[in-house]
Amino acid sequence: DRDYIGFATLPDQVHRKSVKRGFDFTLMVVGESGLGKSTLINSLFLGDLYKNRKIPDVSERIHKTTAIERKTMEIEERGVKLRLTVIDTPGLETRQYFTDESGLNRRNIQDNRVHCCLYFVPPWGHSLRQMDLELMKRLHRKVNLVVVIAKADTLTTSEMYEFPECGSDEDEDFKQQDRELKASIPFAVVGSNTTLEVAGRKVRGRQYPWGVVDVENPKHSDFIKLRTMLISTHMQDLKDVTEDVHYENFRAQCISQISQ
Ligand code: GDP
Ligand code: MG
Repeated sequence: DRDYIGFATLPDQVHRKSVKRGFDFTLMVVGESGLGKSTLINSLFLGDLYKNRKIPDVSERIHKTTAIERKTMEIEERGVKLRLTVIDTPGLETRQYFTDESGLNRRNIQDNRVHCCLYFVPPWGHSLRQMDLELMKRLHRKVNLVVVIAKADTLTTSEMYEFPECGSDEDEDFKQQDRELKASIPFAVVGSNTTLEVAGRKVRGRQYPWGVVDVENPKHSDFIKLRTMLISTHMQDLKDVTEDVHYENFRAQCISQISQ
């Protein structure tokens, strides 16, 4: 169903909690200017196509990034509220959470910790740049890192290069879905803020002299897979790993610094 993002169809248990409280998810995007980060975020979450959903005013949308940007928007789908924060520059917010969590009023801390970092690599060049590798190495110890190849519409099928896989331990259904997702890593994505009409159907796409790239067409881009992973299949995982691994590491570091 193209009219929905899918966060309202979370697993039952998560869903029930979410209906009551709404939920937070913080996504950070990293990558050099011009790679299509803002466009992709808009395409992922704020589409004009999603008519069954309350979306923020156009002025609330993220525009081309010239400075550090951090935006929180509340989107609602089938009665479920998602408070989505997008940070458009490195800044993990774990420090603030630690300060709050060490304080007296720990009940109503707003959790702004980054649950997932989308790392944009340019489609040009034939391998990862040293600079990207080094930054990724540093980031992946602090945050869940998902590598995406930006502007994948500029690549031919054979130019899409392969990356190593990572493991998982879940039930069979999930594993299958997981395998399909993993097979598309790194996600090769295409973003667009333009709605086009193709064969009587409205699509979010990029118009070229020779045709249309439909960002939601799995043959054209991994957009839907990426969104499914972030919002539906792996959202709780991303939050758990943030809490149990990345935050615990950070916390341990802080405490050992204090006690020195
Ligand atoms: P940011 O600086 O990384 O946030 O990049 P923007 O989202 O502002 O996009 C920069 C330019 O790239 C704009 O002109 C976009 O229209 C274009 N762009 C964004 N996404 C894509 C894409 O997937 N493919 C192509 N070919 N161009 C894109
Ligand atoms: Mg931007």
